Amino acid sequence: MISQPLFYAGARQEPASGRYQDVIDPATGQVVGRTARAAAADVDAAVRSAKQAFDNPAWRNLSASQRADILLGLAKTLHDNAAELIALEATSTGASVVRMSSFDLPAVIQMAMNVASQLPEYPFVQYPPIRPLPEAHHVRVVKEPLGVCALITAWNGPLLLFMLKLIPALAAGNTVVVKPAENASLSTFRLVELFNQFLPPGVVNIVTGGGAEVGDALTGHPDVAKISFTGSTGVGQHIQKRAADGLKRVTLELGGKGPSIVLPDADLELTARGATFGYLLHSGQICLSGTRLLVPDALHDALVERMVELAGSLQPGNPLDPNTTLAPMASEAHMRRVLGYIEAGKAEGARLACGGGRLTSPECGAGFFVAPTIFTEVRNDMQIAREEIFGPVLSVIRYGDVEEAIAIANDSCYGLTAGLWSSDPVAAYSLCSRLQAGTVWINDWHAVTVDSPFGGYKQSGYGKELAIESIENYLQSKSILASFERKPEFKAMHSMILR
Ligand code: NAD
Repeated sequence: MISQPLFYAGARQEPASGRYQDVIDPATGQVVGRTARAAAADVDAAVRSAKQAFDNPAWRNLSASQRADILLGLAKTLHDNAAELIALEATSTGASVVRMSSFDLPAVIQMAMNVASQLPEYPFVQYPPIRPLPEAHHVRVVKEPLGVCALITAWNGPLLLFMLKLIPALAAGNTVVVKPAENASLSTFRLVELFNQFLPPGVVNIVTGGGAEVGDALTGHPDVAKISFTGSTGVGQHIQKRAADGLKRVTLELGGKGPSIVLPDADLELTARGATFGYLLHSGQICLSGTRLLVPDALHDALVERMVELAGSLQPGNPLDPNTTLAPMASEAHMRRVLGYIEAGKAEGARLACGGGRLTSPECGAGFFVAPTIFTEVRNDMQIAREEIFGPVLSVIRYGDVEEAIAIANDSCYGLTAGLWSSDPVAAYSLCSRLQAGTVWINDWHAVTVDSPFGGYKQSGYGKELAIESIENYLQSKSILASFERKPEFKAMHSMILR
């Protein structure tokens, strides 16, 4: 049984209160460990340790090339400990070993190597053109780190979400305190411990525990300069308000309600499989998921029929088994929330094409599994079409013409992802600029590359992650202007008041 304390100042630390909470495997409902519940005193100690590390010249004076070597160290650590990390993630979040080994781990290893390769050439120092009049100053613009960064992550992919923030934060020269979701911190803690084997003490620290208790202590701490948050839009709004007091920098990666538009010329089988992948990967517990399927009448019945078949083909089970293709909900409370949305859909008059309840077959045991659920005859003003369910639930909405489809797609407070299914990619391209989303796919879903920035429009947040440009979230610019004019009478500006 795992017993996980806190980690800061380069060492494991017991929580001041001595309190712990259980970690429950969502695939079995069994307790598999316990994690520390930090309080404000622990947060303060962790932030102080990060501040000391930031102020230490041993960290501050590292060159970009030396920081690139550190990123390669992160990549190697992820690679060398992949099996253990994947098992921890699967056990505490329900993420399948197949997803972890074919997407999450390779993606963050590749990102660390990608940023490391570009870091030595990154323009941390720039020389804008010299303007000759009235006096030729020598201008140097230097990009500097912000200080202590609070990294707060959600439970649906804690390892991936942590690394998407840690890589640019360290690349820019900051130090960090990470707070993963209280029910899913095992892989993040282990990474912090492993990284501390080669990083100076205090550069990477972790506090675990409740959102309100630990999160508020962290975001309100005067020595935290930056908050990078991945989670729900509601908590993101709360964090932005709290950050206002100290004018802390904020990056927000929030929720989504991805519209997936099936154009009349779409290939039926490609669309059926792609849209199923779009809403059922990790049982829909992914912010990018395509959860609103917009379909013209002519394709509606055949497409729904095929997607019902595909939904029935997914295999629930233990995420450690490579044959498992349907993940459990991450916690019992979340399963109840998802089931509540399904009931709301039924009550509002949407028609159930498949699913609609908890899965209780023998392979599901006491795990928190929800059947893949497709609602048809959904209107975009229904709760199941407006709110993020974060479960295996698809809302199929009919549209008349393409203009109506675009209007429905954009009629959402979210703007994280959108997609188009069409046999004419050129026509589909021409619609991309009309969709209010940070990522738009044509004939695919969930595809991301480490070179393309990822992030939201509208209430899905702001500030991009993934690409090298994410480093800008963790930097500030300083302009240094040097005058080489030594004769006071030739100082052109001074003459405005000094005659
Ligand atoms: P959540 O907002 O409930 O929690 C996210 C994190 O915030 C957790 O660590 C939680 O403990 C913490 N938190 C809660 N209250 C806090 C407070 N007052 N101050 C500071 N931190 C606080 O979200 P969740 O349920 O863990 O995750 C699901 C949500 O995350 C979904 O909305 C999903 O769309 C979103 N998400 C977005 C992205 C993205 O990249 N856009 C990626 C993954 C998940």
